[in-house]
Amino acid sequence: MDDVNNIIKAAVLILKEESEPLQLVPSVAIKLLKLTNDEDARIDDLTRIIETEPTLAAKILRNVNSAAYFLPNKITAINRAVNILGFSTVRRIALAQLFYNKMIKPNSKQKFDQLFFWQHCLFVASLSRGIAVALKHPDPDFVYTAGLIHDIGKIVLETYGRLSYSDYISSEKSNISSHDSERSFFGLSHAEIGHVFCLEWQLPLSITAVVASHHQLPEAASPFTEFRQEIAIVAFANSVAWMQGVGSYYDADYHPFLEQDVLALINVDQLNLGHLLQQVDHEMQNTLDFYGIEFPSIHHLRATLIKAAINLSKPKVDKSDSQDKPFFLSSLTAPHHSLNTDEFLPRTLAAIHGDFGFDRVMMLTINARRRRLIAPYCWPPSEADNFDIDVNSLSGLFLCCLREKKPVLISSDLESDNPILKQLKVSAFVAIPIVHEQRLLGIIYADNFVSKKRLCKSALSELTLSASQLGIAMVNAKHYEIEKKQAQLDPLTQLYNKRMINYFMEEFFKNNSSNLDKVAIGFIDIDKFKKVNDLCGHQTGDDALKVVADIMSQFTRPEDFIGRYGGEEFIFLLKNTDKTGAIAYAERIRKEIESRGRLLREKFLNLELTASIGVATYNRSYANYTDMIKVADQAMYLAKHEGRNRVILLSGSPALV
Ligand code: GH3
Ligand code: MG
Ligand code: MG
Repeated sequence: MDDVNNIIKAAVLILKEESEPLQLVPSVAIKLLKLTNDEDARIDDLTRIIETEPTLAAKILRNVNSAAYFLPNKITAINRAVNILGFSTVRRIALAQLFYNKMIKPNSKQKFDQLFFWQHCLFVASLSRGIAVALKHPDPDFVYTAGLIHDIGKIVLETYGRLSYSDYISSEKSNISSHDSERSFFGLSHAEIGHVFCLEWQLPLSITAVVASHHQLPEAASPFTEFRQEIAIVAFANSVAWMQGVGSYYDADYHPFLEQDVLALINVDQLNLGHLLQQVDHEMQNTLDFYGIEFPSIHHLRATLIKAAINLSKPKVDKSDSQDKPFFLSSLTAPHHSLNTDEFLPRTLAAIHGDFGFDRVMMLTINARRRRLIAPYCWPPSEADNFDIDVNSLSGLFLCCLREKKPVLISSDLESDNPILKQLKVSAFVAIPIVHEQRLLGIIYADNFVSKKRLCKSALSELTLSASQLGIAMVNAKHYEIEKKQAQLDPLTQLYNKRMINYFMEEFFKNNSSNLDKVAIGFIDIDKFKKVNDLCGHQTGDDALKVVADIMSQFTRPEDFIGRYGGEEFIFLLKNTDKTGAIAYAERIRKEIESRGRLLREKFLNLELTASIGVATYNRSYANYTDMIKVADQAMYLAKHEGRNRVILLSGSPALV
């Protein structure tokens, strides 16, 4: 117990003096955590404990009557809820409720985002329970609870630490285990602080064991040893959470390392992980719906996921058991180093080149329009020059690789007139399809054109694994591109949104500060647009906005910039344009809006579609681009004031106009 006393002493030093641990986890939660295993007694106790907290009771009733539990009749009393749903479920709901209400204060400005953390706790709890059920654990509900509070030490540090967990996350960390880097930052790890608080709250030894040891299984002599399986379940669920992008904080730069013993204790090969994760997703979705919470976007999770994959591939610094570390082919992780195809594709080809010792590795794709097989990427880089083959000339095994998506080894012994062999002047090559969800995304080609070393069929299965990782990365990159684009565009008009307008303007003025003489900025504001909405309906109003956006796209040179500034207001920035040019451009747009409006007269119930346009050209007195925007805005208001449907250009300083 000496160790424990030392930890307690250290805890006193690193926490703020006014720490009130009992407020962090309410006493009701502690009572619930301590309920015994005696079936009859505990049902009564559970009911009594909940009923003494009326707001908790009300929330539980609301929860059990929500869509998640599909109950045919409304439940109005806690004892009925316990009878129908069972002790486990009700206690689980009560605990989740208490922890959520007490601990989670959304604070997205802090590095340690408690909502994100809550998501991690729920994920680990839910998966731990699923695994416990699969392993026929006698009390899966206890494992759920242990999973729910396994990282309680982090919340304690965030709330009461002299240095907060947010401070820790923001600090520079060397590549050592989280346990060691937390110790060097705080003096104790989150597991040790959690251990102290479990003692303080007198939680059952089983839960204390999981909180204290979920990053390292206990030694044989430890009092926690009898809970090795529970600890292993939570440690595994915790690790899966990180791998799935649901770690306990953003920008996680590390991944918990799984001990071999953990995998052995839970018999990981026998688990149906797909099914378990589906259950977890379902349970988490119900929780989200109930609390009305939105967890971070899939986009964000994907980025975290990639980081987790990158971390998995990093060599671990802890050398003590380095012989036991699994060996990873770098071509399995290279695809996940970036979301940019131009970065990760050459990198993956280079990794395959290194892992398998080929002389040349290429990525082949089919240009459907030209009906040609081409090689957009190659390693070493210059070796693919001029590779270009008519798709119609392909035959034999290579066609089988394309159609049946199977890896092949092609040699001149089998197919002496193969067009690829001929064009590349080699006697053999391997081709591995890159497939994702049955779709062919490309082909990895490899040969030994210099050394002429024999190619061996046995490498095909490992290469297929690398190709499938590449497929996943290519699809991720594509989704990322689409999402990135969507985040920059106004969904209605598909023009750049205000965020991008500001970004573009700032960058443009920063990078062209000495060459602004021939720049014009303008606002286009639809006239009496409110009337269009009021008389023709919002949908027609939206259509009018799209008409104006189309006209702008049609009349603007590619080097210029246009966007939707907000509501019915659009903006343009013209480069290399003098006053005459700017007015001519604005007039063309104004006239086109007017005549397009006339063509659509019926749609707009005879209302005119016109716009007022204000233009500002550059003036040396402008301190920055916002002054120029102000002048363009003033010009637009002047155009409104003078009767609308006209263009006005100003180039004075904003103070003067
Ligand atoms: P003015 O000629 O002075 O510019 O008059 P206006 O009616 O165009 O200007 P006002 O600013 O009074 O009204 C703008 C209207 O644009 C009000 C708002 O409902 C509408 N609006 C803003 N965004 C959208 C949108 O995305 N779709 C639709 N249909 N209407 C929008
Ligand atoms: Mg932890
Ligand atoms: Mg308007």
